[in-house]
Amino acid sequence: MTSPLQSSIRRAAWKSAAWLLALAFVALSGALGYQSFERRGLDKLQTDVRHRLELFSSAVEGMIQRLEDVPATVQLSEEIQRLFHAPRAAAARERADRYLQRLNAFMGGIAIYVLDERGVIVASSGRTQLQALPENDFSFRPYFQEALSGRVGRHFAISLVANRPAYFVSHPIRDGAKVVGVAVIMINLDPINQIWDMLGAPALLADTNGVVILSSDPAWTYTTLQELPIERRVDLQLSRMYNRMPLPRFPLQVQLQVNPETLSIYGSLQRSNRYLGFREVAQIVSGRSINGMDWRVMLFTDVDGARRDAVLAGAVSATGAAFLILLVLFVAQRRRIHRHRRESERLLEQANLSLEHKVGERTAALTLANAQLVKEVAERKQTEATLRATQGELVHAGKMAVLGRMAAGITHELTQPLGGVRTFAGNAMEFAKRQDLESVQQNLEIIARLTERMGTIIHPLRSFARRTDPELSFVDVGQCIENALFLYQTQLAHLGVVVDNRTTGEQLAAWCDAPRLEQVLVNLIGNAIDAMAEAPRKRLLLSAERAPAAEEALAADGRAYGLRIDVEDTGCGLPPDFTSHLFEPFYTTKQKGLGLGLTISRDIVQDFGGALRAWDRDGPGACFSIYLPCAPT
Ligand code: ADP
Repeated sequence: MTSPLQSSIRRAAWKSAAWLLALAFVALSGALGYQSFERRGLDKLQTDVRHRLELFSSAVEGMIQRLEDVPATVQLSEEIQRLFHAPRAAAARERADRYLQRLNAFMGGIAIYVLDERGVIVASSGRTQLQALPENDFSFRPYFQEALSGRVGRHFAISLVANRPAYFVSHPIRDGAKVVGVAVIMINLDPINQIWDMLGAPALLADTNGVVILSSDPAWTYTTLQELPIERRVDLQLSRMYNRMPLPRFPLQVQLQVNPETLSIYGSLQRSNRYLGFREVAQIVSGRSINGMDWRVMLFTDVDGARRDAVLAGAVSATGAAFLILLVLFVAQRRRIHRHRRESERLLEQANLSLEHKVGERTAALTLANAQLVKEVAERKQTEATLRATQGELVHAGKMAVLGRMAAGITHELTQPLGGVRTFAGNAMEFAKRQDLESVQQNLEIIARLTERMGTIIHPLRSFARRTDPELSFVDVGQCIENALFLYQTQLAHLGVVVDNRTTGEQLAAWCDAPRLEQVLVNLIGNAIDAMAEAPRKRLLLSAERAPAAEEALAADGRAYGLRIDVEDTGCGLPPDFTSHLFEPFYTTKQKGLGLGLTISRDIVQDFGGALRAWDRDGPGACFSIYLPCAPT
């Protein structure tokens, strides 16, 4: 197990290593680019240099070769031949001089002259100049000695006459097999100084001794490229090749290599790098021999241009490598983003699927729950309908119970008129026997009145016993109270209850069903009578009034009730635990009680949209309040 710190350190190390690697790659690409372009640049430079050197050599060769054969021509000329047959004849000398003058003027050399076998000038293109020399003897010159030996002599030397660099070519003049003189041409080398520009860089021409004889830089002229041995220096002094020039060493440190096959020369000039300090090639030295001569031409080419190009190429390579790395990083990043996106899409799809699955499950569960709810609602409705039916039954049962209790009172009430009817009927029969029709009629009238009275007694009972569905309308509360009291009339009188009905003469309308309100009132009055059975002071108070605002909140749930009917008694008062059980079905403290009266009464009042409350009175007894709603507007 690795800690988060360790893994973050490891990640940072990997990142640094990757960056270092990338940097190394960029640096390596730069270096390789630099190297390859430097090599290619130098190769191109060398090819270019070789080409220029070839052109330059051809130009120099052309210049020399054009005049090289002149001494051979001279030795064959008639004027020179004659001169050597008669060397002392002035006419022959003059003719020879004129010939050489013409020839030199035509060929454009510095001078053409002829030496006898001692090295003394016998004829020349510029007699006056040559013969004005203090010593008119050129036997010390190597070209004379070569030609005297029967060979063609050629070499560079400083002209003693014109005191300027020249190329000397000599040819033997023969008389039969014997060499009698030497013909010499002194070739002007000045034109070479005018073609340095075609090389486009500092250059020099060195002769067979390694002495710089011509150079684009005058400071290099008459310096030696290699150390000359002392004997050689003495020889050169004697032959006055360089006219007593000191011949110091060439000022630059050049390492040269000569290819023996092509005779090409390679070398370089080194310097220390301006910024980094290491030794580097500053100039390349290329050279070649000039055909037919022992001369070498050498060119000093600056490599800064090629190196600048190589630096540029290195920078381009490094930039390319950096770009490549960035491209790789970009592609990798793109691929990573693409991968992440695909992964997120996959996860999203998965989440969608699982969500759909869950939604499906939840929907199925909800559908099931809904179906159950619908079933339960149907069951509830069924139960409610059953309850309502049961409630109806109960209300009716309650009525019947009250009726049963009232049966005795009613019987008593009917006994008197019934007895009267019987008596008056007997009287009527007697009067009929006596033919006293007037008395018969009087008795029958009394009977009729008595039956009418019995009908009046029975009428409220009939309407009370009838089972009706509630029909809400404006109901005269006073009348309902009257009807209820009427049912207990006999019982109240029998028990000696003082009835104080304060609603008499008042017009109070309530929004309810009259028979049912009467049933409630009958229940409450019946309970009050029961409670006062043993009481010393029996007083039943019935009152009704518009419910004051303070009582509305007290009555129930902040609802507005229009009317309050109070039924008060001076009985035994409510049982101590009445609050929790009073309105429960089958709760009773009476021996023959059913415990349904208050339950039914409360349900009836609630059906009206009202409420039924019970209070303990301040004095002895209880108070029941019926709150009835305001009439709908
Ligand atoms: P029942 O009259 O058959 O007992 P009720 O539901 O009418 O059934 O009454 C339930 C109980 O409430 C009675 O048994 C009695 O204890 C009590 N109660 C009802 N009205 C009064 C009252 N006015 N004074 C005292 N107690 C009462």
